[in-house]
Amino acid sequence: QWIFLNGKFVRKEEAVVSVFDHGFLYGDGVFEGIRMYEGNIFRFDEHIARLYESAHSIMLNIPYTKEEFSDIIIQTLKKNNFQNAYIRVVVSRGVGDLGLDPYNCKAPSIIVIAEALAIFPKELYETGIDVVTVPTRRNRSDVLSPKVKSLNYLNNILVKIESHIAGVSEALIMNDEGYIAEGSADNIFIVKNGVIKTPPSYIGALEGITRNAIIDLAVKKGYDIREDVFTRHDVYVADEVFLTGTAAELVAVVKVDGRQINDGRPGPVTNQLLTDFRDIVTKEGTK
Ligand code: PLP
Repeated sequence: QWIFLNGKFVRKEEAVVSVFDHGFLYGDGVFEGIRMYEGNIFRFDEHIARLYESAHSIMLNIPYTKEEFSDIIIQTLKKNNFQNAYIRVVVSRGVGDLGLDPYNCKAPSIIVIAEALAIFPKELYETGIDVVTVPTRRNRSDVLSPKVKSLNYLNNILVKIESHIAGVSEALIMNDEGYIAEGSADNIFIVKNGVIKTPPSYIGALEGITRNAIIDLAVKKGYDIREDVFTRHDVYVADEVFLTGTAAELVAVVKVDGRQINDGRPGPVTNQLLTDFRDIVTKEGTK
């Protein structure tokens, strides 16, 4: 496996960064998770745009144009002969001293890792998953914007830990007002009486690219879809609940905090959108 690291392709074993890298010392940096389906990179430009916006927001200058960076990612995929892959792009503030001042970091560290896909078990998409809500809260837009995909993922990691403690694999995170924000690394949608809702990003959710693709598909299908806030209660009494993300794609949620959702099976809207999503991912991407 070849990794792009600071201007060179190196073997996995040699792909190491300094202990003085501020990505490591302080979580100072941004990242992206992108997916290639049968040679198509899904919504590539959107991922690149989000990476540059995240970096701009934290005043981290990426020393490549978007075209150059896109090309590096494509070269990484080619070098590894991938047709289907999960791609992780990391840009950290780079090597500095022990102080947190980013002005002492000379150049950002740039890493592109492409890996063969570890696809979730097929039955997960047929049966749906069981989730819980957890005590950890998501930051809202009055602190670091939830739109920034930064290397600070401690909230999300705590969510994962709390979901394991509860004996399930995923959890929903609320903001400090008790509105449901998202999953640990996915966005949430609920369906009730024919209306599909997903929380607006400002309440504390990453503006997911899969989320936006699902909104586009739902609009095309003529569904009534809205960005709106909702609470745990609304999730418990929804007709359907599902999560979306680059890694998870679209997965039904059939139990939340021990409450079965509807008849406990993935619903028709969820199944329809998953079918449509699977259809576009191999067609709509960048070759
Ligand atoms: N929310 C968080 C916190 C995430 O890390 C991710 C993953 O990137 C998502 C949602 C889903 O976003 P996307 O569909 O762009 O992968």
